[in-house]
Amino acid sequence: MKTIMSLAIAGMLALSAANAGNFTEKNSAKAKKIIDLAVEAHGGEALLEQLDTLVIANETVNHSVDQSRGTEPPWDTTENKGYSAIDLENSIFVTQSAGSGGGFENNSATIVNGAESYRLNYRAGTVAKIAEPDFATTSGPFVRVTPPLLVRTLKEREANAHYLGEVEVDGESFHVVGFSMTVGPAINMYFDTKSHVLRRSERMFPNFGLVEYRFDDYEKTDGLPFNKTFTLYLNGDVNVERKITSVTVNQPIDRYTKVDERLASIPPVEPDPLARKELAEGVWLIGGSGTYAMFVDMGEYVFAAGGTGGIPDRIELLREVVGDKPIRYGMLTHHHSDHVLGVSAYEAEGATVIAAKAHERIARRAAEDGERLKVKAVDKRMVLEDGGRRVEILDIGPTAHTEHLLVAYLPDEELIFEADHFSMPRVGPAPPAVTSTQTFAEALARQDIEVSRIASAHSPRVATMDDLARALEAEVFQASR
Ligand SMILES: [Zn+2]
Repeated sequence: MKTIMSLAIAGMLALSAANAGNFTEKNSAKAKKIIDLAVEAHGGEALLEQLDTLVIANETVNHSVDQSRGTEPPWDTTENKGYSAIDLENSIFVTQSAGSGGGFENNSATIVNGAESYRLNYRAGTVAKIAEPDFATTSGPFVRVTPPLLVRTLKEREANAHYLGEVEVDGESFHVVGFSMTVGPAINMYFDTKSHVLRRSERMFPNFGLVEYRFDDYEKTDGLPFNKTFTLYLNGDVNVERKITSVTVNQPIDRYTKVDERLASIPPVEPDPLARKELAEGVWLIGGSGTYAMFVDMGEYVFAAGGTGGIPDRIELLREVVGDKPIRYGMLTHHHSDHVLGVSAYEAEGATVIAAKAHERIARRAAEDGERLKVKAVDKRMVLEDGGRRVEILDIGPTAHTEHLLVAYLPDEELIFEADHFSMPRVGPAPPAVTSTQTFAEALARQDIEVSRIASAHSPRVATMDDLARALEAEVFQASR
């Protein structure tokens, strides 16, 4: 992708040299001209304006880059089937998806429809009201991958559009127009210089990289061209491959906003601000908004478990109770991208990062200075015994989610800290166990250890072994819709 970007910049510079005097005016006129050609190619202004509702069904394969069981390609995949329905006039958006991968099975939907907005979990058989529905944010991802909606949005916001130049990619040439959306970073759109349809778009995310979308195999439905295939690349690697299986234009979408009456109502998800909870004397679970780490006072030092985002904030809250006691160890549960974000925080504390032997490379890659990072690679088991406390670090893998999984086990407290295998929802009972949970329970049983509570990297609620047993016994409400 570097080639494309540099070509785009080259195009922009060439233009600026030629029109130094009234660059902005000419650039804006050029952008408008490309947008008008695109509007025409995408069905014309009249049809695009008359577009009120749209239902698109898809089959999607996600490539689990840095989220697979192993640490290297080929990556595991997850497969989902679902649909999205939008009513532009009334700001209604519904999206549903069912599938499995990474040790997880899911079947859920989101309905954004003013005061009648819900999150539905067909697998657990529950429905929760959405307290503050947000149409723009929820429908944004769908709009960004649906060319007629994207082109319509571009036309509406053409005052914010810039012509970036003409580029050639893989023997095809494109006009590139950039514009800002209501939510998220600016988007660059590549229009085929011959057909004028949208073939690619790109967005740059700080600290994350380039997200590239491709739209191929256009077919017309009711006069509007829709791509039958969609591919998303992350920093040049295929991340999502989608087939559009059906497109319905301007039909009522009421049936998608109805909530199955058999679903049990559960309370809405409330905001979960950063907080510290003492699980046992000198043992704290600190976190908020879906990510948590466990800290254990070991007398002269602190042992930390969990490597999700926000570790510096969690450490700040820890300091209120342990003062300036050093964090000597920071344990990573596994190698997934969202579980190594804390490496640099532990590195900054001067701590030794504890990781499964197979995950050492990923831990170093996540550090500011990977070569100098202090790493303790664990092969099966490691024990810390200090300040009258015992912590056992056990690799209980493999599971359906990862080949290696470190858990921190406190035998005196009969407490375990884990990630991604079993976490209680913020309210209500645990949903039926997914494969990841089943294999976690089996892995725990293989260890000869006494556990009564499970703290998790993704829940403020500590589970009991009874919770785990109930989840394993619970029946799936509906395997598919
Ligand atoms: Zn994971």
